Order: sequence, then structure tokens, then C-alpha cells
Amino acid sequence: MKRLFTLASILVVLSLFFTSAASATSPSAPGQPALAPDVFVDYTLPIPVNIVFVGYTPSQVDTGDIAAWLPAAYEPVVRYPEFYGSPGRDMGLRYEFTYNYIFKNDAFNTNFFKYLKFIGTPGDPTLFQEDYNDQVNNILDVTGPVLYIPATRVETYLATKLGLTTKAYTIVFINWYNDPGFKFHVYTKTDEPDPDTGYNFGSLRSSRKMIAYGGSASRLWFYDFSAGPEAWTDNWNVDDTDVDGDGYSDYRMPPIWEYDAAGFHDPAGLDDDMGLLTRFVAINLLFTPSPLYDPMVTAPGYGGKKIVHINMMEDDPANTGTDWISPAKVNQEFKAFQPHYTWQTNMTQVDPIDAGAQLAIRIFTGLDSSNDCWNFYGDTFAEPFCYFEELNRPTYIPTYGAADYVVPIHAFNTEDASMGSQLGLLGFADDNWVDGTQSAVFQFDTPYYRALGYGFTATTIHEGGHHLSLSHPHDGYDWEMDIDYPALGNFYFANSGDESHTVMSYISLTNKFGMFNKDNLYRWETAGYLNWANELLADLQADPGYASVAMHVMFANNQANMAVLQLNNWNYAAAASAARKAYERLALAASILGVSTPDQAFALRARPNYNEAPHEGDPIRFPDN
Ligand SMILES: [Zn+2]
Repeated sequence: MKRLFTLASILVVLSLFFTSAASATSPSAPGQPALAPDVFVDYTLPIPVNIVFVGYTPSQVDTGDIAAWLPAAYEPVVRYPEFYGSPGRDMGLRYEFTYNYIFKNDAFNTNFFKYLKFIGTPGDPTLFQEDYNDQVNNILDVTGPVLYIPATRVETYLATKLGLTTKAYTIVFINWYNDPGFKFHVYTKTDEPDPDTGYNFGSLRSSRKMIAYGGSASRLWFYDFSAGPEAWTDNWNVDDTDVDGDGYSDYRMPPIWEYDAAGFHDPAGLDDDMGLLTRFVAINLLFTPSPLYDPMVTAPGYGGKKIVHINMMEDDPANTGTDWISPAKVNQEFKAFQPHYTWQTNMTQVDPIDAGAQLAIRIFTGLDSSNDCWNFYGDTFAEPFCYFEELNRPTYIPTYGAADYVVPIHAFNTEDASMGSQLGLLGFADDNWVDGTQSAVFQFDTPYYRALGYGFTATTIHEGGHHLSLSHPHDGYDWEMDIDYPALGNFYFANSGDESHTVMSYISLTNKFGMFNKDNLYRWETAGYLNWANELLADLQADPGYASVAMHVMFANNQANMAVLQLNNWNYAAAASAARKAYERLALAASILGVSTPDQAFALRARPNYNEAPHEGDPIRFPDN
């Protein structure tokens, strides 16, 4: 059959990086005094990555082919300012990778496959396995009963039985297909129904039956080439080049039996695909990703809290939005994510929605063509930002303490018809349309959305996660190549990153922030606060009253030492907490002396470049399944 895809276009991009990769100098943290006035530190962290093969023979996989894809280093960047052509704040972090290839022996493999069979529940093939069987070019038919295997139990089994250090990230490639006891199978997660609607995406939707998972309680992500085929990466489709209809070929990785001379991929391409997954999904999107927004923008001042304020606007006489959100659950998840802050989640209600807000939404949804503040930006997508954030914020969001950081969330409970051209949009965490700094969250719920399973709570946690920094696990940035990519075209396979434990996924199987989210946010905060502390320390030392705050500086130095120690020991939560304490104590000293703190210095307030940056929201994926 015809070969649908080549790696050529990605290889062209890859070849560029050999000439463009930056080399960064980086004072190494250990042994240095933790705080150094006015010194900017790039915290350089060695990141071992284990690449584990379960059920593969070395003859199936040439690790040299995988290694050719893998980066030597990664420096996270703040992505949104880059959309405006600005570099964003230097995050002061550099990761240097080492790779460890591990082939598990037959005894391990046999026990693992027995475990899969033991915990799997037999059932009919999924809708997408049947769709695969109906393809013209499929080289076999998936036959039932297939096993439905709990994903997090497999993650836990592997994290435990592999016995690897937890001071490393691990990707496990699974192949059960060559084992005599093989059963067609998919992975499931069914223990977190939607908190508002009770809808259980994991049990009810074929589209949520997976081939990969990880990051729930470990630094491990597994990807099973013998599972599926499945919906999320559309690897059930072996007939069409362009599965999403955008005019580009969508690069997919089929189940392992399709790596065949007669199949969808060349058998020699299996290890290349493993290299692509390791680099463009595991490393760039899960293990060491870049933030969408600068997490330091959301840092409270000395003694300040983080506050989520939900402005619920009622625009459906038959339903009440406050019935479809749990501020307590929202607060619980943010508190679990960033325990080193005091959190508060509050909600006010505008019932019914006022005329000004209603007009702004009707402009946004294309139901009203009036001129308004959006004209300045030339895009009606800017209307919610300019109306609610620029012009009328005090009307909808109360004023809190000066040291508090407030996440403004505008929620519209409305009817299906009132969504106009935006029907299907769950929400978006907007920027400020000037330099890529986060601004406010806008989110939507309607009877149609609720019938599909979506209330407001999960969307609030997802969009709030963006506002606090996080990218999706299906789009991101490659540092050595300097490319930002969505899960489209050549990177279509990046949708597999959604098969991981995080509310930032579109797959709706958890409302929590997972291990990968926490590791990364804490590293970003640790380096951010320590560099802020260095900057502030110089200002304090220049102040004639410096001697009077010496005790605070000593405390801050002790905390900074602790932060660096914990950062190097992979105790990232403790590192972020200590770095925050170091900075906060210097901020106290600054307030005593009347020295200004750097947290309002958003360096990039420059030229409006708003027509170039993408503005798009989070859609419902697979509304039909
Ligand atoms: Zn999103």
C-alpha cells in the first residue's frame, strides 16, 4: 500500500537546530551562596531521562535512531510574549539531559503482561477499534473481547516495579503484541466524573479509551504501541492523510502491527516514532515544558493571598449558573497545586446579566455587529477583554488587598443560541492584547454543554491553570529548534500528551494538577523567586537603612539556601515554598525601608502587536463521542 507519511518535513526542521542551538552559560547552583545581589542566575539542572522498553527486543529498536531525535538541553520560555515577538522574562532555568536506555527482560515482561490481563476487564471493541476494522487499508481486524485496563494502576505498577530513581523522568514504551497471551486492549480512567454534571467521560465515551498515561503519582509516562487503536490521536484512521480537514497531512503513529511492509508505517520507522514521542511529547509537553504565561505575574506581594474571583453572569432564565459550579472544589484544586499560598475562591452573581455585559458577549459571539471597544483591536475576540478587563473591571471584580493577586474569571451561563458562532467554546484564558501577559478568564456553559457533560468547575480549574502559567499537554515549545507547535499536521501525534494526569488536558479524565504540572511550576517559581530576591537584595543593600533589616536578609538567605538544596534534590514543592519565603521576607524588608519590589515590573510593555498573536479558546473535542 502507499506510504502516507514521511518524516521529511520534521527532519528539515530538525536540521536547523544544529546550526541555531544557543549555548547558554550557567553558573551552577551547588556551593554558591544562595542569594547574590543583582546577579542573575541560570539554575542548571541535570535531568536524567530513562527510556524503557517493555516487550521489545534490541533488534526491533535501534536506540541510536531514538538518540538522534533527542535534545541535549532545554531552557523553558514564557510562550505567550513570544507570540508578540518578545522574548518574555528570562526564566533562569536550564535543563541538561542524559538518556538511559533500558530493555526489560522476559521475566519482567511476562509478569507485566500477566498483570495487565489480571486487572483488565473484558468488553467489546471500542467504537474506534471498529472504525479501524472498517478502514480499507488496515492490515488486521481488532477482535473482542478486548481488555479495558485501568491506566493509573499500570502507571503505579511500572513506577514501583521498575525500581528506578525518582530523581529522573521515565518514558516506558510497551509492546504486548509479541507475547503469546496478547489481548487487544485500551487504557481507561473512570474515577473522576465531572463534579457538576456527574458525567463520567472515562466510562461513557469511546473517545476516552487510551494508549498512554502517566504523571498521576510518579514521574513516569507510558505509551503502549500495542494498545488501541484509538480516537485521541486518530491512529485508528489508516486511510486518510488529513484527518482534521485543515488541508495538512496529520502525522499519526499507528498500532505496532501496522509497522509492517504492508502497513501504515515502515517497520524501520518505529524507533524514529519513539524518538518523536520522547522529544515532542514526553520532554517538551510533560517532563520539562514551557509555561504559556509567566507564573511570576501571579505572585502575591508580602502577606498577600491568591484569590480566584468568579463573576457569574446569568443569561438563561431557565437555568442558574451558580448551580453548575463548586467554588469549594475550585479552591481545593488550586490549594493542592500551590500549597505555599493562602487561597480564597469567591463568587458574585449578576442575575440577570446587565445590558452592557450582554452586548459585549453578543458582539463576541457574532450575534451583534455593533462597534465597541473591540474596534481598537480590530477583532471581536478582543471584546470580552476590553469590556470586562480594560474598561469595567471594578464593576464585576471586587477590589481586594493590594498585596493579593486576583484571578478574574467571568462565567456566562447562557442558552445554546446565545453562543452564536462560538457554540462549542468552553472558555479561554485571555492575555492583555499588548505583550502576552495574562489578563482574565472567560468561560461558558449552556444546556447543550451540560448534556455533553461539562459544567463550570472543570473549565474554571483548566482556564485558571492557564492563567497561573500552564500550557496544554498537547501543545508547546521546542527550545533547541525554537519552534512553538500545536497538535496539528506534522505534530498531530502530540495529542497523545493529553493522555496524562492533568486538568490541562482536553480529555476530561481528571480535574487535578498532576506530578508534571507541579514539578514544572515549582521549578519555575523557585528560579523566579530566587532571581527576584537577588534583584531586591541589591536595592536593599543600597538603602541607608539596610542594617535595620539585616535579620530579615539572614532569614531570606537561609530560605534561599534551602530552596537551592531542595531544587537539586528534586523536592520541588519544598524548593518553591522556601524560595517564596525568601522573596517574601525580602519584600517585607523592602516595605520597611520603602523600597519598591520587582513584582510589578512587567518588563515588556512595549508596542501593541495584537494582530499577530493567536487568540483562540478551548473547544469541546469529540462532541459526538
Ligand atoms: Zn486550554
